[in-house]
Amino acid sequence: MNKSVLIINCGSSSLKFAVLTTPGNDVLVEGIADRLGIDDSSITFKHNGTKNTLPLTDSSHRQAVTEIKNWLDQHESIQESIVGIGHRIVHGGETFTSSVIIDEDVVKGIEECARFAPLHNLAHIKGIKESQNLFEGLPQVAVFDTAFHQTLKTEQFLYAIPMDLYNRHNFRKYGFHGTSYRYISQELARVAPESASQGVIVAHLGNGASTCAIQNGKATDTSMGITPLDGLMMGTRSGSVDPSLVSFISNAENISCDETIDLLNKKSGLLGVSEISSDCRTLEDAVFAGDERAKLALDMFASRAAKSLASVATTLDTLDHVVFTGGIGENSDYLRGKICESLRALNITINSEKNSNAPRGENCIISDETANVKVWILPTNEELMIAMDTISLIEQAH
Ligand code: AMP
Repeated sequence: MNKSVLIINCGSSSLKFAVLTTPGNDVLVEGIADRLGIDDSSITFKHNGTKNTLPLTDSSHRQAVTEIKNWLDQHESIQESIVGIGHRIVHGGETFTSSVIIDEDVVKGIEECARFAPLHNLAHIKGIKESQNLFEGLPQVAVFDTAFHQTLKTEQFLYAIPMDLYNRHNFRKYGFHGTSYRYISQELARVAPESASQGVIVAHLGNGASTCAIQNGKATDTSMGITPLDGLMMGTRSGSVDPSLVSFISNAENISCDETIDLLNKKSGLLGVSEISSDCRTLEDAVFAGDERAKLALDMFASRAAKSLASVATTLDTLDHVVFTGGIGENSDYLRGKICESLRALNITINSEKNSNAPRGENCIISDETANVKVWILPTNEELMIAMDTISLIEQAH
């Protein structure tokens, strides 16, 4: 069997996992532990086309990792193929500019970055510590969502606030979805080698949504900020708003600043505007049935995505490729069409037939062959990137 990597993506109330072979990218087993820290929590294993769900009586991350270990103990050939564990880490601050093998200093560094992403980074540490206990001796690697954006120039990542606040607190733009953008940049260079020395803008449009500009394979700007709330309108996030709105909402609704930020994170975006759903597919069905509010929400989403793509493109030498990825970017021909329509002034046009007939789950071009700016759909694969980083760091260490 090929070498494989156990990938762990530990959230505050869930833990997603997968065992991926590399090379080959076969998923040997995958699953999710849900409702951790709440009640009725359970873990589901998907293996060989079957699904098996077990209750987690103490609802803990520890029990979730223990059940993964128990499952692997019963599937020896998979267990023996695992050469390391790759952890997805949301915030690496300015400390982590690439993936690293986890040691005590790395755990401390992730802990320090928790001030910007407390729910996520503290959950990641739980996942790392439980994995260290249960998979003793297996090397573990941390892969950061922020790392790819560490190449942004100072003029791009600073907020125009007193410099002292950056110097004392590291308040700046970090950006997220970096593992996805790194995958897209490498995949585009594989299918269109000239792109490695060209200018690319990418829209990662899913429940969370952001944009990124990439010149010569390096990130030059991105839409998310110190947290993922900034930039595009998303499933439940507002994206960028006038910061004064926080104080207006807080005063008008008599809620705290933190509660207001929670409202902007969890009750806004497609959900807040449509008052129907945060899910693009559900809204597209509603538009089809004639719902005007669903249409307004999707059109706002498209308009903001287009503006953001145009904005990040200002950091490129030339604009040669546009890439759509993420659940919405890969699947919604309506939104791709709307976004590209708003980008016509930048010479970005697509072939509407290619757009509507794009095959699901495959790389494809949706611009005309003669187009100066090529428009692509490239399905992202963050898990593969984590597995590849894990294997390569382990091999370098030997
Ligand atoms: P992600 O967070 O990348 O998994 O993307 C989730 C988003 O992709 C949700 O809003 C889904 O409704 C959307 N999505 C998935 N499949 C489709 C589809 N066939 N058409 C439109 N949107 C889709």
